[in-house]
Amino acid sequence: MSRLSIGIVGLPNVGKSTLFQALTAVAVPAENYPFCTIDPNVGIVEVPDQRLHRLGDLAPRERRVPTVIEFLDIAGLVEGASRGEGLGNRFLSHVRDVDAIVHVVRFFEDPSVARADDQLEEEADPLRDREIVETELALADLETVEHALDKADRKARSGDRQAQALETVLRRVRGRLEVGQPARRESVDGQETRLLRSLSLLTMKPVLYVANLAEDQLAEEKRITGAFREMVRRDDPEAETIEIAARLEADLLELEPEERAEFLEGLDLAENGLARFIQAGYRLLGLHTFFTIGEEEVRAWTVRIGAKAPEAAGRVHTDFERGFIRAETIHFADFERMGSMREAREQGLVRSEGKDYVVQDGDILFFRAAG
Ligand code: GDP
Repeated sequence: MSRLSIGIVGLPNVGKSTLFQALTAVAVPAENYPFCTIDPNVGIVEVPDQRLHRLGDLAPRERRVPTVIEFLDIAGLVEGASRGEGLGNRFLSHVRDVDAIVHVVRFFEDPSVARADDQLEEEADPLRDREIVETELALADLETVEHALDKADRKARSGDRQAQALETVLRRVRGRLEVGQPARRESVDGQETRLLRSLSLLTMKPVLYVANLAEDQLAEEKRITGAFREMVRRDDPEAETIEIAARLEADLLELEPEERAEFLEGLDLAENGLARFIQAGYRLLGLHTFFTIGEEEVRAWTVRIGAKAPEAAGRVHTDFERGFIRAETIHFADFERMGSMREAREQGLVRSEGKDYVVQDGDILFFRAAG
């Protein structure tokens, strides 16, 4: 059973740990996940989803288990990381392991909090900060790609078809990296994705930029982040940007619930920024949710958008993926409308889906697998 994980990166002193602290304050206690290592840099966070509660009302079970995503606070990115400087190598290997990246960029101004680069002005310079980080990631990828190209090249010459295909796509990806673009800008088909997977290219991973604002910038957030958003749209159209005031979120979590509500009202902020961030991250990173109803629990699970039924089965249990036969499937909305599985079956709303079925957000799945 594997969780999907999101790594939080960015230059020093941009607010990564502050965001991470806010996330871990709403994190699931680690003892609920006995199989996971307790690491202070890892936070397991529930994805808020009303449908799970509705499902638990209609199909009462002992437990309702939300789906979780894992956030990692990955420190150590400095200019030169791709050359193995500072914590460079360790940093890069952590980034390789995550499924997606949250890139925190500093918008708040505070002379008492140093910027990463002493030569920089005191003013926040999010465009430049972003570029420093992206450049390091792209340089690291370029090295990986050159290395892989060498190997593929040799094999391709001896007539290895797979190596030939890999070589072709690597050349295209290299072309992107050489002009400073992330690898994810190169469109690749399913086979190419599989060929590239073992390289774990950093700039192939989906990215969500977090514009970390000071509390008093929130009222004008769209104006303040306008130029940044524009740059992202131009240079990296696959990526998304979300505004958040990390320190405010962290401070809010220290308040009692009533105090918090009052405070939010005063700020004219109805929404919980953190929940919005978790949900946006989840969605923008190409993840969605399916449900299972077992004997003891109703449960939400995460898969990538586009994943087929066996991959979803593999989230629940690796044996289910290997022995996958079919999945009895009904959509949450149909189930809710019918009110029970028996009614849904009688109405013919429970379908039998095979291994090519693309799982939809909100599907309830019952896996049949060969032991
Ligand atoms: P990291 O190095 O990216 O993990 O940055 P930290 O989260 O440790 O933050 C660095 C410093 O900036 C800390 O002293 C934070 O309290 C401060 N900080 C974070 N967010 C804000 C903010 O929105 N406004 C201000 N003034 N300071 C902040």
